[in-house]
Amino acid sequence: MTTTEHDGRAGQERETGMRMAREREQLCEIGRRMVETGLVLGTSGNISVRQGDLVAVTPGGVALDRLTPADCPVLDLSGNVVEGGRKPSSEVPMHLAIYETTGTSAIVHTHSEYAVVVSATMSELPPIHYNTLLLGGTVRVAPYATYGTPELAENVRQALSGRQAALMQSHGAVAVGSGLEQAFEGARLLEWLCAVYVRAKLIGEPRVLTEEELVAVIERAARG
Ligand SMILES: [Zn+2]
Repeated sequence: MTTTEHDGRAGQERETGMRMAREREQLCEIGRRMVETGLVLGTSGNISVRQGDLVAVTPGGVALDRLTPADCPVLDLSGNVVEGGRKPSSEVPMHLAIYETTGTSAIVHTHSEYAVVVSATMSELPPIHYNTLLLGGTVRVAPYATYGTPELAENVRQALSGRQAALMQSHGAVAVGSGLEQAFEGARLLEWLCAVYVRAKLIGEPRVLTEEELVAVIERAARG
């Protein structure tokens, strides 16, 4: 298969086959569900999925519930577009930095409300509910840097170390997974945990689970 670059949808219509066709369909499906579940308003989020040396990503400037598979460009791991006419999301450097250093296969990035609230006020989200363990434990907040920059990509990559999700200071959230469904569920769980924390804080000081209590949960889960 040769690498082709086209400049518009006309080129794609001539294609008999589409690279990463199933994954691009999935991006559209998860994009719709992100808008439906309130994780994303319009264009304020982006998602990607990796298959081998290729990454399919949502384009910039298109509402996530209005995407078609052809709208979603396919990139190589250096960020070169190998298929698709639309410009990739501005947050591609972050997606590629995460793929470069983790075995993850899918990334969901949102500006979901409670994640932004927590990211703007705290340096980490402590475990006040045991489901925090599904994200790997205490969720770190990556220090602020301008969107789309290598600096932000590096900060997020570090915050994700050993975790399935991270918050991005005064910006939003990112969740990773072995597939888009898992990354999407991680983003929803993180938003729920942030909402629970914020609401708990309104009526008192939330009690953080102890190391011992968290270990007991891990042991209980291991027993099935
Ligand atoms: Zn963003």
